[in-house]
Amino acid sequence: MENHYKLKNILSHIIASLKKQDFLVYFRKISLTDITENSVTFGTVSSFMKDNLEAKFYTTVLKATQNEFGPHITEVSFVVDNTIDNPSNTDAIDCQTFYKESQKSSKWAEKKAQREWVSPERKGSVNSRYSLINFIVWADNQLAFSACEAVTKNPGKSYNPLYIYGDVGLGKTHLLQATGNEIQKKFKDKKVTYTTADKFITEYVTAVKKRNVERMREKFRDVDVLIVDDVQFLSKKEQTQNELYNVFNILYDGNKQIIISGDRVPKELTELEPRLRSRFEWGITVDIGRPDFETRLAIIQEKAREKEFMIPQDVAEFIAANVTENVRELEGVLNQMIAEYELTGNTPSLTRIAEKLQKLSFTTDILWESRNSGRQRATTSIKSYEDIIDAVSRHFWIEKDGILGQNRKKEFMIPRQVSMYLLKTKMNYTYERIGNIFNGRNHASVLYSCNKLERLIKKDKNLLYEVNAIKDGIGI
Ligand code: ADP
Ligand code: MG
Repeated sequence: MENHYKLKNILSHIIASLKKQDFLVYFRKISLTDITENSVTFGTVSSFMKDNLEAKFYTTVLKATQNEFGPHITEVSFVVDNTIDNPSNTDAIDCQTFYKESQKSSKWAEKKAQREWVSPERKGSVNSRYSLINFIVWADNQLAFSACEAVTKNPGKSYNPLYIYGDVGLGKTHLLQATGNEIQKKFKDKKVTYTTADKFITEYVTAVKKRNVERMREKFRDVDVLIVDDVQFLSKKEQTQNELYNVFNILYDGNKQIIISGDRVPKELTELEPRLRSRFEWGITVDIGRPDFETRLAIIQEKAREKEFMIPQDVAEFIAANVTENVRELEGVLNQMIAEYELTGNTPSLTRIAEKLQKLSFTTDILWESRNSGRQRATTSIKSYEDIIDAVSRHFWIEKDGILGQNRKKEFMIPRQVSMYLLKTKMNYTYERIGNIFNGRNHASVLYSCNKLERLIKKDKNLLYEVNAIKDGIGI
């Protein structure tokens, strides 16, 4: 029992020096298994947890242990404690419960301070769930993000209007609301208004009915920052468009910031009045594109961390490879997994998530069988990477050396990319391993090739057909 208290003290130090999510995700359950003159050993639930603690938090744990035992402790180590879940193991600590307890007893003043800090944001018309800090930046949203950041520093002065466009689920609303929040936080006396085209229409129609359009006008003319989301929904609503046009002009002339989003470039919003469309183009127009594989992986991991959910690497990679359209879908799959975990207590496995994705009708075109799944398809007879390269070579009538070599002509590049892609997606080889097969290419170059091919087959049906033909030919 004495160890129990020591461990609690150590955990308190750890909590103080880590982000809440990191603590809850990585520490789960822990025990003290051995204490010697200069080292302390901690027990963990699984080798997965053990590896993570070693890799990510060695120094934090060492410092916290020294704090409790003294500086003579020079090392800490981690082992898998098979008895950790036994009720008789009273020395083990469930970190989630411990965290809650430790928070409850924390000072009231601290809580009050926290409450005061969140309240100003809640007052605005923007949703404080969205912030620029939790907006993940990737190559094809970098410009939109930077433009928004610039606007938060100097609303009305730098990019006005700021028009952001992109497909659904790629973060337009998130970015717009985050920008609104940030401006509100920085400039407390500015009036920030977020609305969607739909809401604007309803408001206008209601105002017309109640004969108080003038009041609505006054309200909108009085704002310092106007954010209008999804303007494509204004199509065919001429009266409302006219109203927005007038509001736009007044705000613009008064150097007030206007931020707009749509699902395509203003020019293509052909069902909008040309004069309104052209106003949208007066400032800067930036697009948001889809995240690539590597980014999708980072998004899943980040979102899982936010939700304090531990997701095994292979499962995260699998989702990132198969759920490719947008962030909303990625979040959806993650939420399903979390719900299932909460209901059944099962940690997500590769087999389970593959089934789930198929049920949710994601193209499991890019579905690969995991080496961990313990389930082999009857048709799978692949023994090595050579089978794949042979098949690609036969299909494209290119010698194997051409595929493995460095020639950058298209006739070699495509078969090479197809081979790498199949090795990654079908055989679950790591990028490093593929790089070694292909004349020692580095991780980044293989990653690039796989992403490139993934993009190509999304656009080029013929190529997709060829890739499928190769897969069918060898039964993968
Ligand atoms: P859109 O308005 O373009 O349809 P949303 O802003 O509603 O997309 O995004 C869908 C979901 O994905 C939201 O939950 C949002 O928080 C999340 N999301 C989108 N892009 C990002 C990003 N870059 N970083 C973090 N979360 C994002
Ligand atoms: Mg949106």
